[in-house]
Amino acid sequence: MTAHDSSLHRRPAKGLLGWLRGAGKEDDDASPAPFSGDESAQAVHADPRRQARAQVLGDIADFLLNHDLEISPFTLTIAHDYLNGGDGRMMRRIDERLRAREPLTSDWLERTAKEAGGDQAEVINRLMHRLETNMEAFDRTSTAAKSAASDYTVALTAQVDGLDKAPSEALLSPAHDTSEMVHELVGIARNMLERTATLEQDMARSMLETRALRRSLEQARRSAEEDHLTGLPNRRAFEQRYAADYKSARDNGEQLAVAFCDIDNFKRINDEHGHEAGDRVLKNVAAALSRISDDRCHVARHGGEEFVVLLRGRSLHQAWELLDDARSAMAERRMVNRANDTPFGKVTFSAGVADVFAFPDPRSALRGADRALYRAKAEGRNRVLLADANTDLRGKSDRRES
Ligand code: GH3
Ligand code: MG
Ligand code: MG
Repeated sequence: MTAHDSSLHRRPAKGLLGWLRGAGKEDDDASPAPFSGDESAQAVHADPRRQARAQVLGDIADFLLNHDLEISPFTLTIAHDYLNGGDGRMMRRIDERLRAREPLTSDWLERTAKEAGGDQAEVINRLMHRLETNMEAFDRTSTAAKSAASDYTVALTAQVDGLDKAPSEALLSPAHDTSEMVHELVGIARNMLERTATLEQDMARSMLETRALRRSLEQARRSAEEDHLTGLPNRRAFEQRYAADYKSARDNGEQLAVAFCDIDNFKRINDEHGHEAGDRVLKNVAAALSRISDDRCHVARHGGEEFVVLLRGRSLHQAWELLDDARSAMAERRMVNRANDTPFGKVTFSAGVADVFAFPDPRSALRGADRALYRAKAEGRNRVLLADANTDLRGKSDRRES
């Protein structure tokens, strides 16, 4: 256990909240700065990344205190996600509840989180159940087809053996013997044809159902990988693509760059124009960023007001150019809140971009891009900075340790 952990556990709940809340503010008492370790509170104020972290902690504490919520891993996650835009659906439900001036209780949060996360799982469960039933029916049909074919073979073999054993007798026998045999053969064949026709219909029905199920499953999969607000791929989809592109670019000796983009001062937009207007700005930025995407450039929403871009087959400089063009195009636009015609003012974003193979592994490349993004923020925002594998690898990134 670290010194930080033990100090966390020693403090009573209220003290912890007070301590967390104090983190984002100017020191107003003698309590030590959170996570200060050996460093002085001065250092916390000097380092913008630590300041940002302290601000997040303070906001989380305020959220829990204002809504009188107990401190638990669940409420901490909700508060973190709400403040950082982790789960759009959940966030919207919380906003609706607050607008209706209803209290946020742990019970309500738990119920709502289950509902919000349950929809998708429920759809997939239903489809999987139908697929299983369909497979069972398919299995029954093919077993029936096999037994029909084998019955047919047995009956036919018996008839042919009969003919084979007494060919001359058969030829010399009275006409009705031959016609009886032919009659029996026709009976066997007809029976087989009837069974085959029924089986064919069953097979055709099963195939149609399987095709429809495959389409539904494909849709459910796409929806699980899509961000519902912006229509962009979500973090989950990005992570899959990143892992796949990392391997294939490395095997083919292609270049690969990864970038984090984060809207500047987005909180101001929400505060001044409301969450719904904020959503529209987010969609707009997503659309602007998605214009640079093609088969070698993938843009995804990483969460909140952050986007991640994966660029393949481009040098780090080319990747930087593409992102910087998108940044300056965005900075030149003037967006207006169409609900009341008030200007949003300049909406800009900052970004950090890393040459993936300059880093030891994909995760540290992401961390490098994240650190470059934070340098971009600290240097004044509305800029794209390159990650440096030597300096941006040291220390941990702010938020992306998962
Ligand atoms: P910075 O320039 O340092 O990035 O400042 P910022 O205000 O953009 O950064 P901060 O991380 O403090 O705030 C991000 C805000 O984005 C907080 C959260 O409420 C808001 N946000 C995240 N996701 C959504 C969303 O889906 N819709 C809306 N309207 N707001 C969101
Ligand atoms: Mg952010
Ligand atoms: Mg931001």
